[in-house]
Amino acid sequence: FQGNFMGWLKKNLLLVLTISAVILGAIAGFALRPLKLSGHGISYVSFPGEMLMHMLKMMILPLIVSSLISGLAQLDAKQSGKMGSIAVTYYISTTAIAVITGIILVLTIHPGDPLIRRDIKDSGIKKQEVSTVETLLDLMRNMFPENIVQATFQQVQSKYPEGVNLTNDKGEKMMPQSEYINGMNVLGIIVFCTAIGISLSQLGDEAATMINFFVILDKVIMKIVMLVMWYSPLGIFCLIMGKILQIGDVVDMARMLAMYIVTVMSGLAIHALITLPLIYYIATKKNPYKFMKGMVQAWITALGTASSSATLPMTFSCLEENLGVDRRVTRFVLPVGATINMDGTALYEAVAAIFIAQMNGRDLSFGQVITVSITATLAAIGAASVPSAGLVTMLLVLTAVGLPVNDVSLIVAVDWMLDRFRTSINVLGDAIGAGIVYHYVKDDLAEHDRQALIHREQI
Ligand code: ASP
Repeated sequence: FQGNFMGWLKKNLLLVLTISAVILGAIAGFALRPLKLSGHGISYVSFPGEMLMHMLKMMILPLIVSSLISGLAQLDAKQSGKMGSIAVTYYISTTAIAVITGIILVLTIHPGDPLIRRDIKDSGIKKQEVSTVETLLDLMRNMFPENIVQATFQQVQSKYPEGVNLTNDKGEKMMPQSEYINGMNVLGIIVFCTAIGISLSQLGDEAATMINFFVILDKVIMKIVMLVMWYSPLGIFCLIMGKILQIGDVVDMARMLAMYIVTVMSGLAIHALITLPLIYYIATKKNPYKFMKGMVQAWITALGTASSSATLPMTFSCLEENLGVDRRVTRFVLPVGATINMDGTALYEAVAAIFIAQMNGRDLSFGQVITVSITATLAAIGAASVPSAGLVTMLLVLTAVGLPVNDVSLIVAVDWMLDRFRTSINVLGDAIGAGIVYHYVKDDLAEHDRQALIHREQI
């Protein structure tokens, strides 16, 4: 037995370490709270976590560039077209189902009560009105950056008329604008790299050297990702501990918003444990839970970082190493998925908006509920894959049905927690999408490889 256990542990060491990191981080956080550490103190104890965030974010740009270009360059146009259309169909339908799940739950559970609203302190968020059309236009503008070099490093000012500039009570900007990560315009970079990858694939043998360059770069990046993975348990431990030390009166706030938290969490649970597995099963006839087990590392990283793009390196690694999904599929669909496919966020946006309506004692008409579902979908697509981005784009949903936008302040207090859970559902959604796309193109890829082999032998 001992031998068996040791063998199992050796195989799953990283996983065991990562799961322990979350549990121990939470325990340590609550244990240290009574010490009431100063801001500096907290930043020192969570420093290794900050380092993990730096490492992961450092990988985002090289990872997206090398993975998209190498992935697409190795496919022919027909294959990338097929993959793209399956992925997009999957993204849209799962996001819509997530929104509907959220709406049904929030309407049945009815967590909002005007009495709660009265008791919650305003957390000092300034009012901003946001229009749906402008958000859409902004998304399009981001897709085609005026200057691609600038798009990789500079926080380009969004052309939003008033801008989504949520500031906290200290006057600090709370979150970056839509689709900007660390000042990077990820959507723009994705569009540009997709174009380069597809063009390379059409050039044929002429482009071999350049394609090889990106393929090797991609392998190098994944090697570095493996190193970061082994560091991640320590980082996640500190991130979770630091967060728990930072937050204010968790317990009081959580008690007041308990039903809201229950609604969002049950929605996320239904989506993760029933809806997505069912879709995966219907599409592939394979055991979805086995697939999900292979993704645990990425789930937990999402819990620790609250950002799907920071989790991207782990998502890649889980899908390729643990689940054997072809690199050409992951390379293509994951970067796009992490940026636009956010089931957890969509569900949360719908629940939160209707919850705020309930707290204001407003019954939404059927038409308004439809508006909420459409804008929640758009808001999820528009949200950047960084912490709390969903909270910013929710202003769009609130504006669309005429709810007071500064009421987001009512839910800010618990958002740090819900954000982590919805992010891990976002990541799961991307992963299952990649699994499904792989299932449908597996044979085409094998045929493509066979043809390539014959072609090489003939030369
Ligand atoms: N933090 C989420 C993500 O990275 C986005 C959100 O705030 O909902 O996927």
